[in-house]
Amino acid sequence: PDEPHSGRRVLLKLSGEAFGGGKVGLDPDVVRGIARQIAAGQRDGVQVAVVMGGGNFFRGAQLQQRGMERARADYMGMLGTVMNCLALQDFLEKEGVDTRVQTAITMGQVAEPYIPRKAIRHLEKGRVVIFGAGAGMPYFSTDTVSAQRALEIKCDAVLMSKHGVDGVYTADPRVDDTAVKLDELTFTEALTGNLRVVDAAAFSLCMDNDLPMLVFGMDGEDAITRAIRGEKIGTLVTA
Ligand code: UDP
Repeated sequence: PDEPHSGRRVLLKLSGEAFGGGKVGLDPDVVRGIARQIAAGQRDGVQVAVVMGGGNFFRGAQLQQRGMERARADYMGMLGTVMNCLALQDFLEKEGVDTRVQTAITMGQVAEPYIPRKAIRHLEKGRVVIFGAGAGMPYFSTDTVSAQRALEIKCDAVLMSKHGVDGVYTADPRVDDTAVKLDELTFTEALTGNLRVVDAAAFSLCMDNDLPMLVFGMDGEDAITRAIRGEKIGTLVTA
């Protein structure tokens, strides 16, 4: 089961909330730990692309509730993801991993623009590609972008790491103590059951294009490494 998957290409979604260590801003110790885990998985020959979340800085929907215009607040959310990208890049390079950051909002001093064919070339050369600024479009989430990027750069799976929950449950385990963790389910079941641990747009993109999704928790020493290696932790969602 621990066989390395040479040539396998995965898209790893990292939640911004985890990067903040539960607070606003960045916890470098957390980012260092995550970078080590990615490096360990990638050294086995797996091609790893990352979509970076930004919930540790801003969430557009929350700023909207406090009176901001939604689209502008969403752009702030996207800019927050880029700071996380640079932090992850820094710690990955300290682990000896070559990286490139590509952003959906161009900012040439810190990142390349998002160019899918170039991203694929980087991956083939053993670089980790970190995608920032979401889709560059308000009203989207980084979960949805993860499914989209995984499809466009032809990944074999999308690995959705979650903060504070270790898979898909029959109900929200934080409010319902009869909730049971599922090892496997279909996208249709996830959508009809309204299981919102991943957003519906991400589930339906994967469903329509037959892209497997692993939903797993980031807690623990090696969850991210194991997911990259193709171990069945968390919940596997398939068409
Ligand atoms: N966002 C957006 N479009 C995108 C991706 C992200 O508008 O394509 C904004 C949105 O406001 C979101 C914020 O960026 O709340 C941070 O992303 P997300 O909430 O997905 O981060 P995570 O929860 O994974 O840390």
